[in-house]
Amino acid sequence: MKSSGRRNTAMSILKEFEEKCATPIGKLRQVADAMTAEMHAGLASEGGSSMFKMLNSHVDNLPSGDENGLFYALDLGGTNFRVLRVQLGGRDGCVVKQEFTEVSVPHELMTSATSSELFDFIAKELARFIDTEGEGFILPPGSQRELGFTFSFPVKQLSIASGNLIKWTKGFSIDDAVGKDVVVELTKALDRQGIDMRVAALVNDTIGTLAGGKYLNNDVAAAVILGTGTNAAYVERAHAIPKSGEMVINMEWGNFWSSHLPVTEYDQALDQDSLSVGEQIFEKIISGMYLGDIVRRVLCKMAEEAVFFGDIVPPKLKTPFTLRTPEMSAIHHDTSANLRVVERKLKDIFGITGTSLETRRVIVDVCNIVATRGARLSAAGILGILKKMGKDTVKEGDKQRTVIAVDGGLFEHYTEFRSCLESTLSELLGDEVARTVVIEHANDGSGTGAALLAACHSQYPKVEES
Ligand code: BGC
Ligand code: MG
Repeated sequence: MKSSGRRNTAMSILKEFEEKCATPIGKLRQVADAMTAEMHAGLASEGGSSMFKMLNSHVDNLPSGDENGLFYALDLGGTNFRVLRVQLGGRDGCVVKQEFTEVSVPHELMTSATSSELFDFIAKELARFIDTEGEGFILPPGSQRELGFTFSFPVKQLSIASGNLIKWTKGFSIDDAVGKDVVVELTKALDRQGIDMRVAALVNDTIGTLAGGKYLNNDVAAAVILGTGTNAAYVERAHAIPKSGEMVINMEWGNFWSSHLPVTEYDQALDQDSLSVGEQIFEKIISGMYLGDIVRRVLCKMAEEAVFFGDIVPPKLKTPFTLRTPEMSAIHHDTSANLRVVERKLKDIFGITGTSLETRRVIVDVCNIVATRGARLSAAGILGILKKMGKDTVKEGDKQRTVIAVDGGLFEHYTEFRSCLESTLSELLGDEVARTVVIEHANDGSGTGAALLAACHSQYPKVEES
């Protein structure tokens, strides 16, 4: 049978996918409005029954620039785990010295380990790192080392330095940790390693990014992470929070869902196969952990129903997560005349050879559709936050800029994603307002931010400068 005789051709699959993923400006406005409405609902709900947790971070003072002394930070939340130390200079808001190390989290530790195995791994890396502390880092006599812990999962904070894990996301699933206070778990592991250190602050990466961003630029009012996972935090006016009088909210926007979201059969299948069925739908459409796999699923359907790669469906095309988002990005950004990068990637990742230029063009198109949808929906999410903050319009004579600190590998490395997000946000805001809203890349702000928040919540009196 000829491929044209089959029910589907690759072009018809592509066309249908493109239509289902469409994000015209009107739809984006509906998504933004739904986001704003969910923010209100989340703030009002006591029991956290709302889709948006709108978690109170218990951060009531953001860094002022006076922070002083040596602080450590841990950053756990994606594929990599970082440990850092910062010597803060005080007064003029400067980091005197900073060092870090980064290791990848072994896959077994993310899924099949126990909570104490995971925290022992963290504590061991920290112990190794403390041993290398050298010149330029000063611990005042009689004080204990203090740490800010960036833990990038939904946590019900009990105070600035304690909080219970609500659920895992992003491929982590260590069941016995759910419901536990992660600071207690970390502290026990520090004790087992003989590390004398106090956890002074427990923060989400969005909160760390907000704090780190605000330290450098006082106009920072919100933070967005676009990496393995996605999330946002912002500074809320105190009277808008019936729950308490505090100010910085971790939205957990990855869990957003709305009937206005363009969800396709591929997204539904990805969700069904995931560790968290029915949850984190916004995240599954937008973030780095999933974009590559959506592309793989579309290509797989083309192979199965339209002999896209010849008579046999390449086995690796059927294996979840073989196409990672950085590889998808490389395919999408191929500017060579004959799409040689795409050709090489197909061979390296799937063992596929002998494709035509036309086939490779279709593959680039699929990447473009998936990335464009994710970037435009991210922009709609940001508009939702700006609306909630009353920053989506310009008031007479108001010259105040609103800066949004953004971090994460997807934003940092996927150029097409980033520029699409930025141009869509401008389009949504209109020229006049767009001039007052600035998207700023906060490079690794969450680690420094956690150290700063540890300093803000230090138990030790500030060291007087000589
Ligand atoms: C988590 C958030 C986190 C985000 C970005 C999500 O999966 O639920 O807590 O901020 O990923 O790392
Ligand atoms: Mg970075």
